[in-house]
Amino acid sequence: MLVLKFGGTSVANAGAIRQLISILREKNNPKMLVVVSAMSKVTDLLISLYQKAATHDVTYLELLSQLESKHMEAIEELVPMSQQIDIKGRIKMIFRELEDLCRGIYLLDELSDSTKARVMAYGERLSSAIVSVAFQHHGLPNILVDSRDFIQTDNNYLNAKVNLKATYAFMRDNLPQADLLVAPGFIARSADGKTTVLGRGGSDYTASLYAAALNAELLEIWSDVDGMYTTDPRKAAAAYSIEELSYEEAMELAYFGAKVLYPPTIAPLVAAKIPLVLKNTFNPAHKGTLISANPAPSAQNVKGISCIDHIAVLTISGSGMVGVPGVAMRMFKAVALECINVYFITQSSSEQSITIGLAEAEGEKAAQAITEEFAGDIEQGLLNPVSVETPMSIVAIVGNGMVQQPGIAGKAFSLLGDHNINIRAIAQGATERIISVVLNTNDAHRAVNLLHDRFFLTVPEKSTATLA
Ligand code: ADP
Ligand code: ASP
Ligand code: MG
Repeated sequence: MLVLKFGGTSVANAGAIRQLISILREKNNPKMLVVVSAMSKVTDLLISLYQKAATHDVTYLELLSQLESKHMEAIEELVPMSQQIDIKGRIKMIFRELEDLCRGIYLLDELSDSTKARVMAYGERLSSAIVSVAFQHHGLPNILVDSRDFIQTDNNYLNAKVNLKATYAFMRDNLPQADLLVAPGFIARSADGKTTVLGRGGSDYTASLYAAALNAELLEIWSDVDGMYTTDPRKAAAAYSIEELSYEEAMELAYFGAKVLYPPTIAPLVAAKIPLVLKNTFNPAHKGTLISANPAPSAQNVKGISCIDHIAVLTISGSGMVGVPGVAMRMFKAVALECINVYFITQSSSEQSITIGLAEAEGEKAAQAITEEFAGDIEQGLLNPVSVETPMSIVAIVGNGMVQQPGIAGKAFSLLGDHNINIRAIAQGATERIISVVLNTNDAHRAVNLLHDRFFLTVPEKSTATLA
């Protein structure tokens, strides 16, 4: 069994879908499951759609008809004219359903997370129906399934947590037997039957769930770049595709901003020991990046550099913290109770301050929660009011080889210092696989490029010499 996932750009239009068909035709695998994302930009447009409807902006109707035309155009190019009636009728029905839902939002002023998830789910429902029919007409008979029937989640509608046990059981027991299955990514269902979604970028995760449940020999994730690059190719022109990574390295790079892979994707694969290849739909001859438990040894100690923007840095400080147990615990608990994800924690050695990094959008909420937790201490002057710094970025340097190579952190810090880039905070994971620095967003782009040049361009890419 081979599981393949094609992202938004890979199903963006009829041309891309044809490319995908030719990739599948090349495969000699007798059993395949294809997961698709919504057509490129469609999820963003669906979000604008419900936002417009909820704010009584009637132009939501125009947006709806643009979306319908986009999907119909793809069908017209992919399916012979005489056979378009059935699929066009199905797509029309789906759009009428979506229109009714939007009218409800418009009239009732009701826009819960559950409704948002229902609207967002249309992207993958539409793309998978079209891809399945296109396959059918190009000699790839298949069965279309609805991932909501197989992936069970909690009721955290927009970022739903998967019940792995139930999901694996549904997939193993209930998926139809066929040589080729087509499934929408991203969408799932709660135990009480409501549509949920797995978080932005979540189709990668859908594919890894299918791969793990079905014990696939390989998962291929097809996107618009030649794999995982040494850094974000949009930020550094010199970035290049990495040949091999361990699961842990890939997970760290993804977690700290390498958008090409949705971070939760890795965990199901680790447990089932399924390798993952990241490939380029528009350059299939390129090997891409192989991610596995035992990557081939590499001369590169640093494998990649990631960067997340839109970070808020919160600090509590004050003499009242010194030697008092439980301050860090109270700070993390206050944030955790608000379900806020913390990217970064650092404590000064004198214990006079603790700094955490989290998404900028949640900065105020987190500051409020921490302020409430420590209100008494702040009032007595034992602690200073919580400080919030924005806009900040986290730059993470990742590589298993850093464990054996002391001094990488020092090199990174002095390089940034030499270029007058102020480092606001530093953290190194206990595994020594990652060093992350927090800095002003204004400096982040320059920092990524400097570090990239330092760790990747000082010796030729293919050199066997030890870098750094
Ligand atoms: P898809 O829609 O196929 O899931 P995404 O847009 O989610 O694709 O991810 C692919 C994009 O991720 C690339 O076009 C690239 O701009 C961006 N990206 C960010 N960091 C990296 C990286 N380190 N390596 C490769 N691509 C990256
Ligand atoms: N369509 C969803 C998104 O844009 C999921 C995905 O593409 O992975 O976030
Ligand atoms: Mg993606």
